[in-house]
Amino acid sequence: MNIHEYQAKQLLQRHGVAVPEGEVCETAEAAREAAARLFGSGQTLVVVKSQIHAGGRGKGTFKSGFQGGVKLCRSVEDVHEKAGKMLGQVLVTKQTGPEGRLVRKVLVAGAPDIRKELYLAVLLDRAVGRPVVMASTEGGVDIEEVAAKTPEKIVKVVVDPALGFQPWQGRKIAAALGLRGELMSQAGKLLKGVYDTWVQSDASMVEINPLCIVDGPEGKPRLVAVDAKIGLDDNALYRHAEIQAMRDLGEEAPLEIEASRHSLNYIKLDGNIACLVNGAGLAMATMDIIQHFGGSPANFLDVGGGATREQVSAAFGIILSDPHVRGILVNIFGGIMDCNVIAQGIVEAARETKLALPLVVRLEGNNVEMGRRTLAESGLTIISGDSMSDAARKVVKAVAA
Ligand code: ADP
Ligand code: MG
Repeated sequence: MNIHEYQAKQLLQRHGVAVPEGEVCETAEAAREAAARLFGSGQTLVVVKSQIHAGGRGKGTFKSGFQGGVKLCRSVEDVHEKAGKMLGQVLVTKQTGPEGRLVRKVLVAGAPDIRKELYLAVLLDRAVGRPVVMASTEGGVDIEEVAAKTPEKIVKVVVDPALGFQPWQGRKIAAALGLRGELMSQAGKLLKGVYDTWVQSDASMVEINPLCIVDGPEGKPRLVAVDAKIGLDDNALYRHAEIQAMRDLGEEAPLEIEASRHSLNYIKLDGNIACLVNGAGLAMATMDIIQHFGGSPANFLDVGGGATREQVSAAFGIILSDPHVRGILVNIFGGIMDCNVIAQGIVEAARETKLALPLVVRLEGNNVEMGRRTLAESGLTIISGDSMSDAARKVVKAVAA
């Protein structure tokens, strides 16, 4: 699950990470009031930031033609106007795809004078099997670009999860970022805070881009997280009720929401052959074998080990709502699952949806004879597959024809 920048900053703040003071607003009027408070408390510059689950907002363009999803403002009126131009509009960035994202909220925050933009992230390095803290002096730009062109500008420190983030690791990163004196000790505290946020939220990634050196009180430099992005491990969400409450369904694909309502594990892909499979491993293998025979899967769909007729029917509905689908492959290995339950679900769903697309079914395992009979006696045109490869070959052929 992903969360918004303003929510990520709330989590970071709880671990002592400094962020610019700000408020999230859903109307231009609320943005005006928030701006009045910020200017009133002594800010000379205020930023209005579109809240969507995608980066690249600063350089994004609204479908209305308005440029930039992050705008600096010098007056309350300016904030009101800019918020009005963002809210209710669709923002297209490098990360949203051409369809863009509807902006429903903006963050109105103080904009301190930035002296330097740095990059900082904590993520899991699967190769070493440990968390890694990544930092760079090249902040504010695409880290992929830095990694490709000047990889020497990225410093990585692997953390032993049993020991946690160590002070010497903080100093090492701070030194690599060119931070000295007061900034080095601030960096130590901030890095520890960011690492702790990652661990304690069960995050898959925490990214701060940019992490800024700004002019603090009395002109003293200060380290502040100016942008923040946090991705969370869905499998650990049950441990964090307050993070679950941060879920924004408006940011998730509607079909994926519908699927989670029926406890189906569905991920939409770009191809045209829909798959309905029980078990994640089998679902992966099914996608591979479709590719192997020259086809392209339209989705990953795992109905789980003990799917009901209703779930199968819901799964068909979801599959068929994708206009790119040209054929369906059902690949079920009945262990716990009764093949006849699946067969009944398929027949019911095919009738209900007046299915006209080629449907290939491969059933194996528990009560498979009954299941096959149910399909055969249904009067529906169902192509049966004898094995996984036979079924995959048949569906690819049917879709090509
Ligand atoms: P994105 O990564 O989605 O483009 P950012 O939050 O990184 O969004 O904003 C883009 C740029 O806008 C930042 O690199 C920074 O230069 C500027 N900016 C963002 N927030 C602030 C802020 N609170 N104060 C000053 N400048 C800001
Ligand atoms: Mg950014």
